[in-house]
Amino acid sequence: MTVHDRPLSSVLETVGNTPLVGLQAAPAAVSVYAKLETFNPGASVKDRIGAYMLEAMLERGDIEPGGTVVEPTAGNTGIGFAIAARQLGLEAIFVVPERFSVEKQQLMDALGARVINTPTDDGMGGAIERAHDLADELDDAVVPQQFSNPLNTEAHYETTAPEIYDALDGEVGAVVAGCGTAGTLMGLARYALERNPDTHVVAVEPEGSLYGEFLGEEREEGEYKIEGIGTHDTATNELFDPDLVDEIRPVSDEAAHDELTRLAAEEGHLVGSSAGAASVAARDVAEHIAAGDLDVPADAVVTVFPDSSERYLSKDIYRSFEAWTS
Ligand code: PMP
Repeated sequence: MTVHDRPLSSVLETVGNTPLVGLQAAPAAVSVYAKLETFNPGASVKDRIGAYMLEAMLERGDIEPGGTVVEPTAGNTGIGFAIAARQLGLEAIFVVPERFSVEKQQLMDALGARVINTPTDDGMGGAIERAHDLADELDDAVVPQQFSNPLNTEAHYETTAPEIYDALDGEVGAVVAGCGTAGTLMGLARYALERNPDTHVVAVEPEGSLYGEFLGEEREEGEYKIEGIGTHDTATNELFDPDLVDEIRPVSDEAAHDELTRLAAEEGHLVGSSAGAASVAARDVAEHIAAGDLDVPADAVVTVFPDSSERYLSKDIYRSFEAWTS
């Protein structure tokens, strides 16, 4: 639980300052820490960009109080923006392709946002187009566009990263994070490399995703079940800067699923599949450091657990791997 020693005036003030918890299944000589983003009010890392981006856009005058935020989103971002929008006096409309999780759409609706579905066949591209059309039709509406807006990266550079470095007194050897928009990893990486240019930076993607192409690696495009990370078209990942990244590690659906079930059963973490994938990669990086294969400034690896497994119970996340992927 976020620690606050006085009453707060809005749930928005509980965004961030999430706990950093050491993983028990780490090698003896190298610690692995996970930032538990499920402790945010909307239970995901995206509450940070909701609060940070909308506050910054209001401050800059990109939008006025009473204006409308229109964002194409598959889920967690909508929840994060919905919470912040209502608390900051803004309206919110989310354009969501039909196939995405019903739970997430119900939460956006409950938080006072309007949800508009676009045909599954039109993909995320169709949702983006519709969002821009809608914003053009409305007075004082903006599309924050998390995939291209530098405020997304900045939210993590200004909040997530300093929280981690303060908690560890700056003793960080490697940062490992899954990439969807890549805002989380880019914010962490920029901060980490400013503190120490030898910090090892690792991006995590599902097997079947194409992020590896940014480093000139071969990737075979395929479907994956891991939610929230990965890309099928690197042209959309405008925030990703390959110069800040040492490695891009693919993790299979099965390895991520094994790890998320282990994290629950052994360590009490109720986290989604992108956290499972991040944990697999972070533990592996720690093993390499322990074996002396990687030279890093400190014997500590940091990763991020972006959201909760409770958001995926209807998708049978805790049943067998076969049930989850069928
Ligand atoms: N995991 C989950 C569950 C997410 O919803 C997201 C956001 N798409 C991420 C990881 C990746 O975060 P980012 O967009 O900052 O790369």
